[in-house]
Amino acid sequence: MSGPLFDEAKALDAADPLAAERKLFAIPAGSDGQPVAYFTGNSLGLMPNSVRAAVEQELHDWSTLGVDAHLSGANPWFSYHERFRETGARLVGAKPGEVVMMNGLTANLHFMMASFYQPSGTRTKIMVEDALFPSDDYAVESHIVHRGLDANANMIRLRPREGEDTLRTEDVVDAIEEAGDTLALVMLAGVQYRTGQWFDMPAITEAGHRAGAMVGWDCAHAAGNVPLHLHDCDADFAVWCSYKYLNSGPGAIAGCFVHERHGANADIPRLAGWWGNDPQTRFKMEPGFVPRVGADGWQLCNPPILAMAPLAASLEIFDRVGMPALREKSLKLTAFLERAIHEVAPTARIVTPTDPQQRGCQLSISFGDRARAIRDALQQHGVVADFREPDVIRLAPVPLYNTFEDVARAASAIALVSAAASA
Ligand SMILES: *Cc1c(COP(=O)(O)O)cnc(C)c1O
Repeated sequence: MSGPLFDEAKALDAADPLAAERKLFAIPAGSDGQPVAYFTGNSLGLMPNSVRAAVEQELHDWSTLGVDAHLSGANPWFSYHERFRETGARLVGAKPGEVVMMNGLTANLHFMMASFYQPSGTRTKIMVEDALFPSDDYAVESHIVHRGLDANANMIRLRPREGEDTLRTEDVVDAIEEAGDTLALVMLAGVQYRTGQWFDMPAITEAGHRAGAMVGWDCAHAAGNVPLHLHDCDADFAVWCSYKYLNSGPGAIAGCFVHERHGANADIPRLAGWWGNDPQTRFKMEPGFVPRVGADGWQLCNPPILAMAPLAASLEIFDRVGMPALREKSLKLTAFLERAIHEVAPTARIVTPTDPQQRGCQLSISFGDRARAIRDALQQHGVVADFREPDVIRLAPVPLYNTFEDVARAASAIALVSAAASA
């Protein structure tokens, strides 16, 4: 493939300081046997090649040591989750001890709401977006019902203004002020999965606290995509999954952040299990839960080691490269995609905010009645993208393994359909 866009892409790839990272990943092949241009890392991130050896190590320890691997394995299983204490904290801008990897995302959201949604008196409502991811919607609703309250009356759903695609920070803040002392919890997405909007997390968290509410963030599309500062933005809790931008495999072990002011508070009601208990007394096998300090105190089960190993392999890459370097490339890659789309499909409407500070890598593009033809053209050209009814295509160029040439490939496939439409 050739043309000015490809020439420019090749020059940008040649100058990319992170270009070598791509070699660490398994890139699926298309029908022509060539690597696809993979733009769905926001749905399932690609496999780091190092995952195989990481899982193999745990299989080896299991097969050769049996139960003794809990203490004498290469990565002792007894304290396995502590491998993520530092790397997990750096990933999301937390202090060591504020992050724990456990369960799945929705499960973690439930555990967090069990602790941080405490309706009392007039303060019973949870503020969410109207376009909330369905699993989060079900989880929030079920907690309200679980406390014997009416879900409809106690969910405040935020909608963009008429004719707009994304929420304005000032409108979110106004809605919080208006809800005032009826508001128990604000629970929003860090980065919105459909529009790609990155919310002003510090401003919204502050507004929530001013109203006397707890504030939690679902960072499913934010973790590993944008630099987060969960501690400094003062969030009460956050949850995320690890199979999207974090490349840790289908159904990977999720993440959970609990601010240190709560982590040290043993009186917070929680759904407890033995792995959240102080390890000094865990094996005394006696009643009387003594939570360990920090996010670790919300663990229930002994961790699934075979599922934790890919996460360890993947976070090693994130930790070595660092979110600042990833963000730097991400800004360039997404800006290149944005410009290419404007060039090849000038009538397409990019739903994602144009301000780079209000988005991560993903662009959601509304193509109107050409959407299906474009989806087919992308497929034919080995470009893996995600189509959402009725007319939106989401493209997520991720800085670890996508190239500028991938972007040129997507743009040239879109150009073919646009040219045919105007011919
Ligand atoms: C991907 C995603 C989920 C998926 O939930 P799981 O519990 O991991 O299956 C939930 N919420 C949001 C916002 C997501 O983006």
